[in-house]
Amino acid sequence: MMFDNVNSLNELQNVDRMTQNSPYPIQSLEINPSSLLRVDMLAPVSYQGEGFIQIADFPRLLAESASVSPGDGFDCQILGWHRDGRPFMEVKIRGRIAIACQRCLDPMALELEIQKTYVFLRTEVEADQFPMDRDDEEAMVASTHFNLLEAIEDEILLALPHAPKHPVGQCQLRQIGADLEKPNPFKVLKNLKK
Ligand SMILES: [Zn+2]
Repeated sequence: MMFDNVNSLNELQNVDRMTQNSPYPIQSLEINPSSLLRVDMLAPVSYQGEGFIQIADFPRLLAESASVSPGDGFDCQILGWHRDGRPFMEVKIRGRIAIACQRCLDPMALELEIQKTYVFLRTEVEADQFPMDRDDEEAMVASTHFNLLEAIEDEILLALPHAPKHPVGQCQLRQIGADLEKPNPFKVLKNLKK
C-alpha cells in the first residue's frame, strides 16, 4: 500500500507542507458565502483565499447571536495543499460574535480565534478510520461540492462557550443584585430628616 509509512496526520504536517511543494497549481478561492457553499475538493488545485464573512451569512450563528453590530463576523484564511495525493486545507478563523450572557441575558462580545486542518479522503469509512491525534485536525470526505461555509460555521459553534457570562463587574444582573443590597432609599430619607 502506498501510505504504509504514514502514521498520522500530525506526521504528515511535520513534513514540510507548504504549497510550494504541492504538485498542484494554486487557485484563489473567493471567500464569500456563495463560493464557499460548494468547493470542489477533487479538483487538482490547492486553494488559497482570505476574506470576511458576516454573521448574517451564518444562519446558525445568527440564531445564537444576542445582537449583531457592524464588524461582527469572521475573517477566514484558507490554505490548501496536497500530500500523497490527498487534499489538505488549513482554515484560520478570527472574529467577533455577541452572544447572550447566561446570567443577565445582555449581549456579550466574544473574540474568537480558531485554526483547523482538514484532510480529505475518498469515503466516509476512510475518513472514520484515518488516525487523528490532535483536536485541531479533522478528516472529511472529499467531494466536488464540499460545504466549506458550513464547516467554518461548525468550527465557530464548537468554539462558543457553553455558559458564557460577563466578567465579574460587567454583568448587568450583578449590578441589579448590588442595587438590592443598598439601603432602602426611603429609610435613608427618613434618617436624613431626623
Ligand atoms: Zn451578564
